[in-house]
Amino acid sequence: MKTHHKNNGRLVSKVFQDVFDKYDLMNDLMSLGVHRFWKKNFIHWLNPQKNTTLIDVASGTGDIARLYLNKINYKGHVYCVDNNKGMLNLSKKKFVGKDNIKWFCNNGENLPFKNNYFDYYTISFGIRNIDNINKVIKEAYRVLKPGGRFLCLEFSKVKNEILNKFYKTYSKSLPLIGKFIVGKSEPYEYLISSIEKFHSQEEFFQKIKKQNFVNVSYRNLSGGIVAIHSAWKA
Ligand code: SAM
Repeated sequence: MKTHHKNNGRLVSKVFQDVFDKYDLMNDLMSLGVHRFWKKNFIHWLNPQKNTTLIDVASGTGDIARLYLNKINYKGHVYCVDNNKGMLNLSKKKFVGKDNIKWFCNNGENLPFKNNYFDYYTISFGIRNIDNINKVIKEAYRVLKPGGRFLCLEFSKVKNEILNKFYKTYSKSLPLIGKFIVGKSEPYEYLISSIEKFHSQEEFFQKIKKQNFVNVSYRNLSGGIVAIHSAWKA
């Protein structure tokens, strides 16, 4: 079984420190806008209800928070957690005047919240960057209410060989795009290697199951370029 490489937390922090101000633009460019479709699908599957509270870990510039609040007509609360202040500041600018969102500069491995507090826990393109995945999943379980739901969107493994070849070839161009737009290619080299080293759909499924979650399942999007894993706290 291929194991998730241990990230160097400091390296990851530096990566996001280097790119945060161009993060949204690069997301659109690199995914050709498809990340918007993936995130919409993600919230659609979450199907959040009004008067609920979501914790979004590795929240970045707030895409998931926005989709969640729109879906429930701003009748609920979201706690955004990210360990990069620059990302959180960009997120804050998008929600000026809204009082149902809070931001916390914190590591996803140790959350400053009490047990059994949230209805939903989401993490989108974040778990791959965190050192200790088991700790993240354990924390998700701890802060969720019984009956609460965990949903994770992450890059995964493409089974179709032709699509995989095309995808791998395309991925090689990302550091060049990075160099052109951000002036740095290293963060995008990191992106490619972190995707390659991350777990397959099935391996990640087993990891979630091991942390006591029930009804664990996953869906592939775009042929497995990304997958959404869903699980519930009993
Ligand atoms: N969720 C957003 C999205 O889908 O667009 C942002 C994803 S971005 C690829 C990954 C985010 O994870 C960055 O904002 C980064 O600062 C954050 N991050 C990395 N390591 C983290 C950690 N240990 N704890 C919390 N956030 C972390």
